[in-house]
Amino acid sequence: MNLESGAILVLSGPSGAGKSSLIAKIIDHIGPTYFSISTTTRPMREGEIDGVQYRFLDEETFEGYVKENLFLEWARVHEHFYGTLLADVERELDLGHHVVLEIDVQGALQVKEKMPDSVMIFLMPPSLEELEKRLVSRGTEENETMKIRLQNASAEVALSARYDYAVVNDHVDRAADELAGIFQMEIRKSKGSADE
Ligand code: 5GP
Repeated sequence: MNLESGAILVLSGPSGAGKSSLIAKIIDHIGPTYFSISTTTRPMREGEIDGVQYRFLDEETFEGYVKENLFLEWARVHEHFYGTLLADVERELDLGHHVVLEIDVQGALQVKEKMPDSVMIFLMPPSLEELEKRLVSRGTEENETMKIRLQNASAEVALSARYDYAVVNDHVDRAADELAGIFQMEIRKSKGSADE
């Protein structure tokens, strides 16, 4: 890890595991951080703004970016494409900022392959029942997409073993403390091994 540059935190977990609220909390703990804005071909939800939650692209543009090798990682998730632009990540790391990538398991494994110093954390919902409750109360999904998301959740949880750590999001403040603690510890570890 280049000590002048920031570190990458990859955070995955099923929809409804509470990633967004947690991410908002960890900035207080870990310092200057860029929360990566992914590109996606999924339809915009009510209240979303292009360039804020995501950069919304049509499939043709997305495929063009794939061909031009512009993505650090990309994947098809819940029947749409999602991807992280490499240039965004490199720019922020060079500025000395940490980068948080909130991406799915397929993308996370690509990042680990290309940038092995990335810290990979899987965020678990306290239970699948609780996850379903959160998705229903969030009210952003149609019945059919919610079914897909819940089915994918079991498969995703099974893949959590591929991560460096799993954190249970039982209480957002506690989970944020734990997550930030792990990230800082990993940064110190890489720094220590680079100093040797
Ligand atoms: P949502 O559509 O609910 O915002 O996100 C659905 C899923 O896509 C989540 O599991 C999220 O982690 C994942 N996702 C969001 N952005 C990216 C990305 O850039 N790359 C990959 N591989 N997955 C992403």
